[in-house]
Amino acid sequence: MHTREIGKNLFQIELETGGFKNLICSYIINSAKITLVESGPTSSVPKLLSGLKELSIPFESVEYLAITHVHLDHGGGAGTLLKFLPNATILVHPRGMPHLINPEKLWPSAQTVLGFVSEIFGKPEPVSKERIIPITAGTIDLGEGAKLKVIETLGHASHNLSYQESFNRGVFPGDAAGTYLPEFDVVVPTTPPPFYLAAALASLDQLIGLQPTSLYYSHFGKATNAVQRLRDYKVQLNLWAEIAEEGVRQNWSFEKIRDKIVADDKVLASVIGFVKHHRIYTKTVLENCINGFIEYAKQKQVS
Ligand SMILES: [Zn+2]
Repeated sequence: MHTREIGKNLFQIELETGGFKNLICSYIINSAKITLVESGPTSSVPKLLSGLKELSIPFESVEYLAITHVHLDHGGGAGTLLKFLPNATILVHPRGMPHLINPEKLWPSAQTVLGFVSEIFGKPEPVSKERIIPITAGTIDLGEGAKLKVIETLGHASHNLSYQESFNRGVFPGDAAGTYLPEFDVVVPTTPPPFYLAAALASLDQLIGLQPTSLYYSHFGKATNAVQRLRDYKVQLNLWAEIAEEGVRQNWSFEKIRDKIVADDKVLASVIGFVKHHRIYTKTVLENCINGFIEYAKQKQVS
């Protein structure tokens, strides 16, 4: 079993990407119009399909594939997945849409940023334009009174959307609210370059305004105490920004900035052993996400 019921009409599918548990998941909203949230990466599409089978959901009955953003681990598998879902339409931010239609440009840049991790995720296949609904805000009718609210939550990416489902009033933040480590009940930043701090903080305020009951992280799983968690994430982002700004001002090396963040961020410090020894997180959290803040601080200095 790799599906789990996590709320009313709501299931989580463990994608076990690259054999890693608790790394990436997709969600199924079992409304009249069946909706998937996140395709996950290309390499995980067979796992997602077997999740649908496990729940006896026919592939033809899926109406929407809601994607938070087009990074490989969230929307990378969309093109491959749609081959199996003949009636599904994709919801995505208009700025993400061109990358779904033509992933050729996205792939080399993902390879540069993610290195070997991009190979684990797999190369995206194109999606035909007719199967995409570009959207930045509004409400999608999921039938029988159920709704999916679309919220533009930029910062992590220039095109990250969040979604709120009406059955439980939980939110799918994509990467707008960090990475949740369910083993420790702890959140760490998801801030690879280009990272936009002001937009990220404004997005968190918007999500707090929705008063969500839970957060359904793509990395990874359902977390309760949503509003407090979003507030704590704002504090964490501000702390990282302060350190990166000081480091850039003082010309510190990458290592010095990283070590200062690890020393001063009590939340990160509490899981540093796990993160450091995790093949993916050591690259994403301790390298890419710190670089996101350094780039941000450099930009701020010149502007
Ligand atoms: Zn992302």
